[in-house]
Amino acid sequence: MNHPNISNRKRNAAQANRLKKIPFNFTLSSVDVSGSLPYLTTWKSAIPENLKSTMSATNGNNSVDQANLKSLKERLTAEQYHVTQEKGTERPFSGVYNHHSDPGTYKCVVCDDVLFSSDSKFDSGCGWPAFSDVLDKSKVKLTPDFSHGSSRTEVTCNKCGAHLGHVFDDGPKPTGQRYCINSASLNFAGKK
Ligand SMILES: [Zn+2]
Repeated sequence: MNHPNISNRKRNAAQANRLKKIPFNFTLSSVDVSGSLPYLTTWKSAIPENLKSTMSATNGNNSVDQANLKSLKERLTAEQYHVTQEKGTERPFSGVYNHHSDPGTYKCVVCDDVLFSSDSKFDSGCGWPAFSDVLDKSKVKLTPDFSHGSSRTEVTCNKCGAHLGHVFDDGPKPTGQRYCINSASLNFAGKK
């Protein structure tokens, strides 16, 4: 005899089993998702080199890709290219802005970002344009530089990574800083 209570219990047990299986399937599917991560890594490592450089540029890396370097070579003078892209230094007292005192702003020769104001420019006598401050601290990046057997602080353009010069702590008050910047890395825009 088929007692209704027994068949109910069987149905309930079958339902409970189905319910138990749901979280189990869930666990399996999440294993599947995390299991695909190594696949993603493999996929990323298969990205062509030319696309990788684009990716690193958009990830905050200031390196300029090969195509940009080529167009820079065409756009800049040999000295501007050497100073900004190869961390070169123009000969002292040779730069066009060394004794330049017109009112205005100085922009990065590569990306045109405004970096320094004539208000903070002073004659340091060192042979390069000198500024006691940067227009905005976020405009430049400061990096320890131990090249040429000395300990200095390199100044680069924060937007494009162009080498600008070095900063020293022997400048005039109130900042006490001397941004010693190559003329070749700057473009001047006079006040109108
Ligand atoms: Zn720049």
